[in-house]
Amino acid sequence: MQELNQAKINAFQTNLVGWYNEHKRDLPWRTSQDPYRVWVSEVMLQQTRVDTVIPYYERFMRLFPAMEDLAYASEEEILKVWEGLGYYSRVRNLQKGVREVVEHYGGEVPKNRKEIESLKGVGPYTAGAVLSIAYDLPEPAVDGNVMRVLSRVFNLNDDIAKPSTRKKHEAILYEAIYADDPSSFNQGLMELGALVCTPTSPGCLLCPVREQCDAFYLGIQADLPVKSKKKKAKAVDLDAFVLLDENKQLYIEKRPAEGLLAGLWQLPMLPKSQSTEDGQAAILNTYRVNSNLKTLDFHVKHVFSHIIWEIDLYIGCVNQANMPHEWKAVSKDELEQFAFPVSQQKLLSYCLEEGLL
Ligand code: SF4
Repeated sequence: MQELNQAKINAFQTNLVGWYNEHKRDLPWRTSQDPYRVWVSEVMLQQTRVDTVIPYYERFMRLFPAMEDLAYASEEEILKVWEGLGYYSRVRNLQKGVREVVEHYGGEVPKNRKEIESLKGVGPYTAGAVLSIAYDLPEPAVDGNVMRVLSRVFNLNDDIAKPSTRKKHEAILYEAIYADDPSSFNQGLMELGALVCTPTSPGCLLCPVREQCDAFYLGIQADLPVKSKKKKAKAVDLDAFVLLDENKQLYIEKRPAEGLLAGLWQLPMLPKSQSTEDGQAAILNTYRVNSNLKTLDFHVKHVFSHIIWEIDLYIGCVNQANMPHEWKAVSKDELEQFAFPVSQQKLLSYCLEEGLL
């Protein structure tokens, strides 16, 4: 590992922490050092923007103010409060981890890396964030934002898509972290990555650590960090069906308990058919239900990290007596009791706006 220059580290710490304490955003999870609150906010912030997270965080904390409230909530409750936030395994794992704390640690989040990382869903980043922010321990918290900043400040050329690079960045931070205030130091790095040292157009002229930044000095900000390209997401073509019976009840189905969007609700969906007749035949073959399909002029595209759903929409009449047992009949007003992923919310919103339900 490269030698770190102590004078540079000292100046970096002072400038970063000073800037953070003066410019930090007023965010709801920053009002307390409660480890549970820090934990929840850090899980929500993975893969999700701050502005999006704020209302979710506030609602979550109103519903589950203490770890005991979350530990024994039902699956429907936790999916509903997470509805639309995506990456739903995050909330399932959070609940399991919190339950472990309640049952095995007397309700106190562990204060050391080994124990906290043994909790379900707690990886090295979340562990470092909770230990430093809630407990003021000098533990690094390295995510993509932080790796971008470090790559630039220390001119590091390792591919940040590789797991080994995170370890290297952690090792640098164990040397560079400001032990007097690790919470402000780590949050300062995160904040700098979010607000100033952004991926495509870093605001170097306003940056508090410009004088310590190798990339700025060398004029290579745009070349760092090095990141290998992800594989292209695969397109999956689907048909979704708005199936209504004679009482205007809509039929929805629960996704399997494992895998993508596990346990969330959706309109019945099948691989794309070539025509309305084919779609009708597919419903009959799969669900043993006769429908009377018509195409709707609405299409949803939803991009996940590894696949893209392209969904066409159909509407049809079905006979209540023949419904498969895995479907649930719901009225328009009951829809809000169920957790639907974003793509399904869009389909349902269209149907509601068009007066189809
Ligand atoms: Fe990022 Fe520019 Fe600041 Fe360096 S000077 S840390 S590249 S914003």
